Amino acid sequence: MEDSKQNARAHERHKRTQEVFVLRWGHRPQRDVRLTTHVALTARALGASGFTLSDVTDQKIKETMEKVSRNWGGTFLFKMGTSWKHAVDSWKIKGGSVVHLTAYGENIQTSDVLKRIHALKKDVLVVVGSQKVPQDFFSIEVSDFNVSIGNQPHSECAALAIFLDRFFEGEELATVFEEARIRIIPQERGKRTNVED
Ligand code: SAM
Repeated sequence: MEDSKQNARAHERHKRTQEVFVLRWGHRPQRDVRLTTHVALTARALGASGFTLSDVTDQKIKETMEKVSRNWGGTFLFKMGTSWKHAVDSWKIKGGSVVHLTAYGENIQTSDVLKRIHALKKDVLVVVGSQKVPQDFFSIEVSDFNVSIGNQPHSECAALAIFLDRFFEGEELATVFEEARIRIIPQERGKRTNVED
């Protein structure tokens, strides 16, 4: 079997055992549209099954994500407007665990936190902030794990990308998205897709 097919199947196995959803808290429609869109695109491209924009709605981001999924395939779910508390509570009621990404958490490289997240075998809701998050996010009532991607402050987009890549052990990068209108045919140079110019 080709390597890419093997990797895609390995990723499917992970997805079947532990699905990942992303919750973005603190989106400010006037200033965060581009960054929040990038967080959602990162979630989709790196193996998450869906994304919740909590507490606010932003039609522009919804339309962008729907267009991306129409063109590039897959079954990524986009939700918005639900309060973060409701999203977290209903995720937990359904048996999932919650991972809050924060520079103050257990370091993904120097602790065994990822091993413990995998060992639970529960679906994972990854929470990322924007502005300073409410103190509650650090509590056991909200987050089963507070995870840092290094202990320096950086970006929700970078933190999410690294978390997902570690969580799926790189296998998500070989995923073939179903029912894509556009597929990239990787090249050493230049740009090639299945769509004729
Ligand atoms: N000043 C904010 C604070 O103290 O929470 C920093 C916000 S940071 C720009 C936005 C989000 O990026 C954070 O809420 C967190 O989810 C994520 N983030 C930033 N650096 C991180 C790190 N080193 N590890 C994990 N997540 C991080």
